[in-house]
Amino acid sequence: MKVPLLDLKGQFGTLRNEILSAVTEVLESQICIGGPKVADLEKEIAAISDCKFSVGVSSGTDALLCSLMAIGIGSGDEVITTPFTFFATAGCISRLGAKPVFVDIDPQTYNIDPQLIESAITERTRAIIPVHLYGQMCDMDPIMEIANRHGLFVIEDAAQSITATYKGRKAGSIGTVGCFSFFPSKNLGAAGDAGMIVTNDPALAERMALMRSHGSKPKYYHKFVGGNFRLDPIQAAILLVKLPHLNQWSEARRCHARYYDEQLAGLPLETPFVDPTCYTIYNQYVVRVSKRDELVAHLRALGIGTEIYYPLPMSRQECFQPVVPCSTEWPQADRASSEVLALPIYPELTREMQDYVITSIRSFFGGDSTNARLEAAQSQLV
Ligand SMILES: *Cc1c(COP(=O)(O)O)cnc(C)c1O
Repeated sequence: MKVPLLDLKGQFGTLRNEILSAVTEVLESQICIGGPKVADLEKEIAAISDCKFSVGVSSGTDALLCSLMAIGIGSGDEVITTPFTFFATAGCISRLGAKPVFVDIDPQTYNIDPQLIESAITERTRAIIPVHLYGQMCDMDPIMEIANRHGLFVIEDAAQSITATYKGRKAGSIGTVGCFSFFPSKNLGAAGDAGMIVTNDPALAERMALMRSHGSKPKYYHKFVGGNFRLDPIQAAILLVKLPHLNQWSEARRCHARYYDEQLAGLPLETPFVDPTCYTIYNQYVVRVSKRDELVAHLRALGIGTEIYYPLPMSRQECFQPVVPCSTEWPQADRASSEVLALPIYPELTREMQDYVITSIRSFFGGDSTNARLEAAQSQLV
């Protein structure tokens, strides 16, 4: 049996006709920039995020970049974030001439450790970017308390966590702004690149909306330097078709996660820590295992796809070495990068496929119930 890490064709198959007609509708209208599809998606994403405003953008990366530009992050500024994230988080800080300051993670959640943030604050610190990794939100109360006390902006990188909650509050609605990605592998995925920024601040929302079109208002008159960060209406149309299914897809992921939790219990690997104050959407189901690379090879040989998010922390990336102080260490991010492994968790995964993944993991560790069952079957034969 083959079990890929992710199978986008399965989901497309279930919505094929609706998606094709939504795309056709945009093409027939020839409203190729902005328009009603973008506006409708903005309205819906703001609503499901419990935010008043939203700005559709070209990707999750551009959501981060556009919001950092709108709050005025630039040369000489420092922005605190996690070293254990996708590159975009730190890359956007750097692209603006600001310095990413990496704060180690909590080893249970893999999210930034709020207890370590305060000592990283200097007079140059302007913002914090907590990343809600794998679909589970950061411990936001202490983060907001520190940010408010020091007058810092908070940009939630919620690329992996749309509709996740923390103490009943939606991802993206707690900080100054929230950034979403609709990269195809996210829980709500477009057929290409797309993203969204949400906020409750009307002035900031307007500034970000201008920022995504070169800062122009009216057209050809530029108040400030922005970029082209616009959301493609064809992607918006596809996302509008998919959006009504998002909760049910996330529930399917949560159901698969519970089954893995149960079935992998007792093996020499750590299943994900579930924060009881959070509703987690499992963009990834990540186990921690010391013989990780051997397990990857074993599963690959059995036709099972896995991935490592992420094999090298940002604090160790070559491009950031000039700005990383050599006196600082990130032991938890280092350990996580050598031990984490994401297993297939997409909604369309069948129980049969999941059982195959579980049996294959058990066979890697040997002396397990699979072998016991095989032995029992054999003894009945004699
Ligand atoms: C996917 C992702 C991004 C970037 O999103 P794109 O749409 O690919 O640009 C940023 N941060 C995190 C944590 C992500 O997972």
